[in-house]
Amino acid sequence: MLMNDFLGDEVARLGFGGMRLPVVDGDASKVDQAQVDKMVDAAIAAGVNYFDTAYPYHNGMSEIVLGKSLARYPRESFFLASKYPGHQITDSYDPAAIFEEQLEKCGVSCFDFYLLHNIYAASYEVYTDERWGIADYFIEQKRAGRIRHLGFSCHGRPDTLAAFLDYGARKYEELAQRDPETAALFKGRNIMEFCQIQLNYLDWTLQDAATKMGILEKAGVPVVVMEPLRGGKLAELHEEPLSILRAVCPNRSAVEWSFRWLQGFSDVKVILSGMSTLAQVEDNCRIFQSAEAISEPEQDALMEAAETLKTGVPCTACRYCVDSCPQGIDIPMLLATYNDLQFATTFTVSMQMDVVPEGRRAQDCLGCGACVRMCPQGIGIPDTLSQLAAALDRIPKWADLCRERAEAAEKLKAR
Ligand code: SF4
Ligand code: SF4
Repeated sequence: MLMNDFLGDEVARLGFGGMRLPVVDGDASKVDQAQVDKMVDAAIAAGVNYFDTAYPYHNGMSEIVLGKSLARYPRESFFLASKYPGHQITDSYDPAAIFEEQLEKCGVSCFDFYLLHNIYAASYEVYTDERWGIADYFIEQKRAGRIRHLGFSCHGRPDTLAAFLDYGARKYEELAQRDPETAALFKGRNIMEFCQIQLNYLDWTLQDAATKMGILEKAGVPVVVMEPLRGGKLAELHEEPLSILRAVCPNRSAVEWSFRWLQGFSDVKVILSGMSTLAQVEDNCRIFQSAEAISEPEQDALMEAAETLKTGVPCTACRYCVDSCPQGIDIPMLLATYNDLQFATTFTVSMQMDVVPEGRRAQDCLGCGACVRMCPQGIGIPDTLSQLAAALDRIPKWADLCRERAEAAEKLKAR
């Protein structure tokens, strides 16, 4: 197994994600414990030692099932990561109650890695709101040895990521003033010791992951990768990208291309794969048994293949159109969302759209065409926004998803 140093621990580069575990009868809450045990056994036998879960995964069952499975192994033989759900919209936030519940669900007394879940525009406000005391509570848990490394995951845009790193640095400086001993426990001059982002060769450009990696590299913050296969979509390439890749390397599978590309980033310490079958575990473990560098021509081929996967509009985000819009619509941001939806529907789209102010949403376009005259790419912006509005109508709203998750958590507690 490929290993590396992650904040002083010897950690496998392939991590076991607990978001897409095998289920019974297609019910996300009914995780197949026996099957998970087999997958965990195979992963551990191959050298995997990092397991990632979160409060809402599988309606709260992921923490329980993974915790049970891992309890069959000595606690010091694996690293367990979970996350605080401050990204879910609710009336109040109680980090202490959730954290205690999570430790109990997982059957552990300490999380090796603990993340503030999903920083984006709206959750940034929650996590930095002193009323909830979220950062201070988790600083205290780190001091008490109940969290070994504190970090965050981020589906937000690069400016939100940068702003949250700044917040972490400010909190560190405050802490260093009032409690230098606890501050010394944090690696780097930031209470956010690591960051988990969505990274794969398609999102390198499609979701501007390149900019996010640049921000994290500059801040010296190590990276955990989520969605290396874009929810499995990069494992099932169609003929056009496949033929581009086969021309430079005939025998490498689509999955292996994704992982080999990610293995080339030295700042990427763990690549999480949300595996659903034993065969996936075995195949991924095989790929991570040895390193195989991607050559320059192969890198070019991968970027060319990525372009064939982008079936949306060719917006370059130049923003020439923005000032002309009487509605103040952030046109490039909405077009990026439109492009994202062409490839796959994900909950992050609902979440990002939830923070777009009323009056500036896709459905608020007046169809005046002022933006079209400014667009060097000749994009039919009003038509595209109208299609986006229709597509957004068909996917679940973030507020509804949060309510469902909260109900599932309540049901689980009542059991
Ligand atoms: S067509 Fe829509 S997006 Fe374009 S300027 Fe008019 S209102 Fe704004
Ligand atoms: S002018 Fe065209 S290419 Fe530039 S941001 Fe607007 S839509 Fe995108």
